Amino acid sequence: MSKYKAVIGLEMHCELKSNSKVFSSAKNSYNQIPNENVRPVDMGFPGTLPVVNKKCVKDALKMSMVLNCKQPKYMYFDRKNYYYPDLPKGYQITQMESPVGINGHIDIECNGKMVPVYIHDIHLEEDAASLDHYFGTSCIDYNRAGVPLLELVTEPCLSSADEAVAFLETMRSIYQFCDVSEGDTKKGQIRCDVNVSIMEEDAKELGTKVEIKNVNSFGGVHDAILYEIERQSKLKSSGNYDEVVQETRRWDEESGTTIHMRSKVDAIDYKYFVDPNIPKYKISEEWLEEIRKEIPLLPLECKEKYVKEYGLSDYDASVIIKDKSYVDYYEECLELGINPKTASNWLTTQVLGEINHEEISLKEFYITPKLLKQIIDALLKKTISSKQAKEIFYKSCTEKKEPNSYINSGMAQISDEEELQKIVNEIMERSEAQISQYKNGKTNLFDYFVGQVMKETRGKANPVITKDLITKYLEK
Ligand code: ADP
Ligand code: MG
Repeated sequence: MSKYKAVIGLEMHCELKSNSKVFSSAKNSYNQIPNENVRPVDMGFPGTLPVVNKKCVKDALKMSMVLNCKQPKYMYFDRKNYYYPDLPKGYQITQMESPVGINGHIDIECNGKMVPVYIHDIHLEEDAASLDHYFGTSCIDYNRAGVPLLELVTEPCLSSADEAVAFLETMRSIYQFCDVSEGDTKKGQIRCDVNVSIMEEDAKELGTKVEIKNVNSFGGVHDAILYEIERQSKLKSSGNYDEVVQETRRWDEESGTTIHMRSKVDAIDYKYFVDPNIPKYKISEEWLEEIRKEIPLLPLECKEKYVKEYGLSDYDASVIIKDKSYVDYYEECLELGINPKTASNWLTTQVLGEINHEEISLKEFYITPKLLKQIIDALLKKTISSKQAKEIFYKSCTEKKEPNSYINSGMAQISDEEELQKIVNEIMERSEAQISQYKNGKTNLFDYFVGQVMKETRGKANPVITKDLITKYLEK
């Protein structure tokens, strides 16, 4: 355990959803072969000019509002100059002087407590191309060059790995709720730089920070922070803290460590200046109001609704709002008339358990709310037992056959009382000897009677009703 206080600031990059790229008409899509979604602008050819994608600006402003930031009066961009093979223009178009949002804040929930997170700024920029490294060769895919990217920079106000991850999860969910991004970390749509420093409990000034570049999963963010706190604490405890210089490191997933990349002295001077190719334009109050009206119910508000209106537990509601696809599934169940609590139970246990197990998204899951309803309906009608319901659920997922096909084809229970009574009567009438033994104290013969009914019905008799009928018969 570290005796120091940790201080964390995040730079979260999130790719936006749009038809075309942020400054060109090339498609913004993942399902293409390399270098297919490329226009001359993306390659930085001389004589080409960028055209701003209005939808991206709108989405960026929407997120600025959700984060309670201050919006600028004018929209314009800056050039961040550096050379790298994934950046054919030799500069990235970004926002430095006048981001779409500054000085924001948002409350997040972490381990049952509300934590305020302060936002330094949020800005719109373009993504770079992606590099694929092979043995001795690297390939460049320009499909990603110019994909709209929102960068969100927090103040150094987070104090643990858990808080950092809770913030990222909240933001991903918000981006999804507002339909500005899929927020799929597996596709690299969310990438983070993590800044970590430590300080004495009562220190007045922040410690020297270390920046960890491009951490691509939330698990990675968590582990990188823990590792870095530990590493810095050891240095500081051993009295070598002065040797810790401000540096950039990278997270190495395989070894679970951070590795030095470059120190502050190697810092690049980006020589920012306003991009002269993109005219400055005024953001009207009317437009901002229009955008504000489009902000939907946000995750925490949605959670409150689920707890208050549907009586879900705080925990279950938190699980559902973690991902927009879960909310969509849940809402569809409700629209189909499934009881809110029943729907929540099935979703948070069976359904999410199964998609995690299969490592697929909920959108790809075979059992849609409609199919789930077949199982729940049969359960309500007592055609099947709850144990059978689960069996049908798993069979249906693996065999990709409608639950009804199992329910109708005899897996169903006999729950009809009249029908069962007839069978019970028949069996009891021919078991006189056992009945008198039972009445003389051999009560474990009860299971024998149940067994006979099960044999007769090939196990399909509803056990609860069967036991009930046998008890009544014996009490006669
Ligand atoms: P730089 O000038 O190196 O870009 P900034 O001050 O702009 O640094 O901050 C970049 C990121 O680092 C922000 O997310 C900020 O919250 C975080 N940060 C700044 N100082 C610290 C610190 N002492 N400890 C942890 N994070 C920090
Ligand atoms: Mg940056």
